[in-house]
Amino acid sequence: MPSPPSFPEASQHPAYRAEASDRPARIRVDLDALAHNLHALQRQAGVPVLGVVKANAYGHGLVPVALHLQAQGIAQLGVAFVEEGIALRRAGVHIPILVMGGIHAPQVGQFLAHELEVTVSSIDKLRQVEQAAESMGRQAVIHLKLDTGMERIGVHSENAAPFIDAAMASPWCTVKGVYSHLACADDPGSPMTGEQLQRFLAACERFDRIGAPMPLRHLANSGGILHFPETCLDMVRPGITLYGVLPDPASIAAVPLRPVLSLVTKVVYFKVVKAGRSVSYGATWTTQRDTRIITLPIGYGDGYPRSLSSRGEVLVRGQRRPIVGRVCMDQFMVDIGPDGTAYNGDEVVLIGVQEGATLSCEAVALAAGTIPYEILTGLNERIPREYLVST
Ligand SMILES: *Cc1c(COP(=O)(O)O)cnc(C)c1O
Repeated sequence: MPSPPSFPEASQHPAYRAEASDRPARIRVDLDALAHNLHALQRQAGVPVLGVVKANAYGHGLVPVALHLQAQGIAQLGVAFVEEGIALRRAGVHIPILVMGGIHAPQVGQFLAHELEVTVSSIDKLRQVEQAAESMGRQAVIHLKLDTGMERIGVHSENAAPFIDAAMASPWCTVKGVYSHLACADDPGSPMTGEQLQRFLAACERFDRIGAPMPLRHLANSGGILHFPETCLDMVRPGITLYGVLPDPASIAAVPLRPVLSLVTKVVYFKVVKAGRSVSYGATWTTQRDTRIITLPIGYGDGYPRSLSSRGEVLVRGQRRPIVGRVCMDQFMVDIGPDGTAYNGDEVVLIGVQEGATLSCEAVALAAGTIPYEILTGLNERIPREYLVST
């Protein structure tokens, strides 16, 4: 049995307190923005939301984010791995949790012991789940995974009939949901999404044909909710938009979202550098004039991408300033120009807003040559996280 919620007010959970660390680099998580995004997405979709909190809640911190979503009345949570589900149960999350990744036979018992919903993606896996359920004398709650175009886990939708029949006939499995995943929904112009929806709906007709109750049909990720309202069906599975970030530069902000995460640090060193001096490892960047260089105490060892070397920017006193030279493991340097001022201890924004200027996660991802998902999930446990909530 999952333990009962020991923290009725999510904000009283110890994980909400700013960590004792005084490290001059931190992630600020705005839980009011998280709640705002949840409610905005729910309104847009018009159906219950499964909030995706895999990968440490996209870098925002698994437990505090999940507890806050639970306190906001979210229908259900989704994670990738059983370990993430167990961590949530141990922290007092009592609402339904779907583990969306493929199952590994030796772990099936753990799903049942912690009342985690299982993704069943083949008849073989169905048998593994049945066996574990029977031996534990417990019903398994399952979601059937159909493949409509990812060629990842799931039964090809055109071959779904025998799979659905077997699952519905299983005395040890309760089929709560049936789902598939969209490959191109972040692109509003892609014809792929409509095709995937048609394949999915065609496969779901099998439930009617055999007189079985229709389980919860869910298909839409963030891109689906933003661009293809017809994919919202009975439940939606937003991840990145819950955190206030768009899935792709081509995405349309059809829902008013607020960024949840900021990444900030403080100046730890200031120096005046003469023209012609090289900066950082490899001497790949050289001052063209006398200038002022500050050092910031965060680097790729925290998950701040090394690919931002001489390409990224940060906000210093509300102005964009370039990263110069290679990002090191624990530090990097910024050129604030010959007239720039900055003092040790000044706050510098790497992702977020400062004095009216914005440096979005999307912009950082573009400069780093990657996607916002990778920027967020890359920010690791070395950076303290601080949770802000107004109530
Ligand atoms: C990660 C994931 C999502 C969330 O995707 P976003 O693009 O972040 O909204 C939804 N469904 C499944 C199966 C996923 O793996």
